[in-house]
Amino acid sequence: MKRRQKIKPYTVPSWIYRAIQVLRPTERLTVSQWAEKKRTLTGGAMPGPWRNSVTPYLVEIMDAFSDDVIEEIIFVKPTQVGGTTAMENMIGTLVDQEPAPTMVVYPSDDLAETTAETRLVPMFKACPDIAGKFRETESKKLQLKFRDMFLYLTGANSPADLSSKPIRNLFLDEVDKFPGASKREADPVSLARERTKTFFNRKIFMASTPTLKSGHIWRALERADMEKHYFVPCPHCGEYIELKFAQIKWPSKDDVPDNAERAEMAFYVCQACGGVITDQDKGKMLEAGRWEYVRKSAEHPKSVAYWINTLYSPFTRFSEIAYEFMKSKDDPELLQNFTNSWLAEPWEDTRLKTNADLVMERQTDVPAWELPEWTKLLTGGIDVQENCLYWTIRAWGDFMTSQNVAHGQALSMAEVERVMNTEFKLPSGEKMMVELALMDSGDQTDEVYNFCISNYDWVRPCKGSSTPLQGHYRISTVDKAGSQANGMQLVIVDGGKYKDMIAARMRRPNGRGSWMVHKDAVDELAEVLEYGRKKGIDMGGVIFGTGATAARQGGPGSGQKPGDPEHGGDPGQGGKQPDGGGEQPQADN
Ligand SMILES: [Zn+2]
Repeated sequence: MKRRQKIKPYTVPSWIYRAIQVLRPTERLTVSQWAEKKRTLTGGAMPGPWRNSVTPYLVEIMDAFSDDVIEEIIFVKPTQVGGTTAMENMIGTLVDQEPAPTMVVYPSDDLAETTAETRLVPMFKACPDIAGKFRETESKKLQLKFRDMFLYLTGANSPADLSSKPIRNLFLDEVDKFPGASKREADPVSLARERTKTFFNRKIFMASTPTLKSGHIWRALERADMEKHYFVPCPHCGEYIELKFAQIKWPSKDDVPDNAERAEMAFYVCQACGGVITDQDKGKMLEAGRWEYVRKSAEHPKSVAYWINTLYSPFTRFSEIAYEFMKSKDDPELLQNFTNSWLAEPWEDTRLKTNADLVMERQTDVPAWELPEWTKLLTGGIDVQENCLYWTIRAWGDFMTSQNVAHGQALSMAEVERVMNTEFKLPSGEKMMVELALMDSGDQTDEVYNFCISNYDWVRPCKGSSTPLQGHYRISTVDKAGSQANGMQLVIVDGGKYKDMIAARMRRPNGRGSWMVHKDAVDELAEVLEYGRKKGIDMGGVIFGTGATAARQGGPGSGQKPGDPEHGGDPGQGGKQPDGGGEQPQADN
C-alpha cells in the first residue's frame, strides 16, 4: 500500500483575508434586485420575502433610483399599489450599498415617528446586512444612525428641520398632504429641496396620491422632463393598452337594481378589440407590461414622472372599483376621494373656476339681514387682516343647511362686536343672536386674544391647523404663560376639509344641506371671489370659512348626523364623514 503523501493545507493569513474582503468591489444591485434578494416584508397584506412579480410596475420606478442620469423621480399613485413599499426599498438599498446623508419627509412629525417605528426600523432589522450597520442605541426617534450614514426623518410641519443639514437623498412621501398651500406657510417641498443643492449626484423621490391640479405632486408631474404610463398587453388582441376606468362596464340599474350585485358583475372591455378582460387576466398582463412615455421634453430626462391608477393594483378587483364609484358618484366629496385615491387623478379645481357662478346659483329670495324660516342657529366668522376685518353671519338649519345672513368689512374690532350682537328676528317673530363666532388669531394674535377674553360669551379664537386633522376641528387651549389669555379655548380647524365641504355643498341645489347665500349677496360675493381668484387668495375661506366650525360644535347637528338625507340609505355610506374618510395615508402593500 502506497503511503499517502500528506499535504499541508495552505492557510491564508487572516490579515490578507481581511484585506481582500475590503478591496473586493461590493456587488451593486439595482433597487429591484436588492429588494428581491434582501427585502422581507414584516407586516401588511403579504408578509414574507419581497417579490417583484407581485407588482411588476414598481420595478422600473425603483430602478430609476439606481440610474445615475435620473435625478428626480415622481410617482403619482392611488393607494394600494405598493408605492410606499417601493420607496422603502430605495431607502434600504442606499443604506446597504450607497450610504449618504438622507432625509425622508412625511406630512407630519407624528406620521414620521409612527412610520419609523412600524415600518422602517422593522425593515432594517429584518435585513441582516443592514441590521449589522444599524446603531439602534445611538439613534433617536427621527434620526436613525448607521455605521456610515444618518437617516433623518421629519414632518413637513417642521420647517426648521427641513432646512438645516445638507442631504444627498431626499424622499417626500404623500406630498399633497404637506402644508404650504396657504400664503402664511412656507412651502416644505422647496425648503427640503434646497438642502440637496450642494450634491451634484443628488436624488429626489416624491410620491403622492394627487389632490388638485395645483397640488405638489401634479405640478411636479407637469414639470418633469418625461411622463410615463404603464401599458399592458390585451390577452385577446395583444395590443398594449392603458387600463382606464371608463372601460370598466357593469349592467344597468334597470337590469340589476342592487349596486353590490351590479358591481360584482363588472368586467373590463379592451379599448382596442372589445374583448372582455377579467381580474384573472391581470397578473399575466402586469407581468408583460411596460412603461412607455406619453410626454417627453428632454433628450436625456433628469426628472421622470410615473403615473398609475388602482386598476393596475393586484390587490384591487375591478368590481371593487365599480362599487366604490357607485357609492361615490352622487356626492362631490366622495367623488373627489374616488378620483384622487382610486383613479390617481387630480380633482378638477372647479372651485376656483366656477366659484362665482356657483354663488349665483346659490342665491335665495331672502334679503340680507333677514333670517330664513328654517334657521335654528346663527354663527359668526371673523377674519383678521392687517388693516381691516372681514366678518360673516350665517344661519344654520337641519342637515347642515345654511345661508349667509350678512357679511362685510369692518375697520375696528368694536365695529365687529356691534355687528355680532345684532338682534335678528325669525319670520315667526322669535328673536335670535349669534350664538358663537370664531375669530382667526393667526394675525394680530394678542389683540384677537384680548378681544376674545372680553367677549368670551360669544367668540373664540381659532387657527388653521398646519397638518390635516383627524376630524374637521379640535378644541385646544391657548398656551401663553403670564398672559390673561392662557388657558382660553382655541379652536384648531382643518381649513382644507372645510373648503372641500363647502365646495361640495355649494354644488348642491338650494334646499336641504345646501350652502346658500342671501338675495343681495350675489354680485358682491361673486366680485370678491373673482378678486381672490385673480390675486390667488382664497376668499372663499375668508367669507365662509370659520362659520361651519361653530355649527359643528354646538349646532343643531347635535341631535342628527350632518349629511345628505337623500343618500342616507346608501349601503356603506351612512356613517361616513363628508370628507370621504379614507384620506389617511395608508400603509399599502
Ligand atoms: Zn384587445
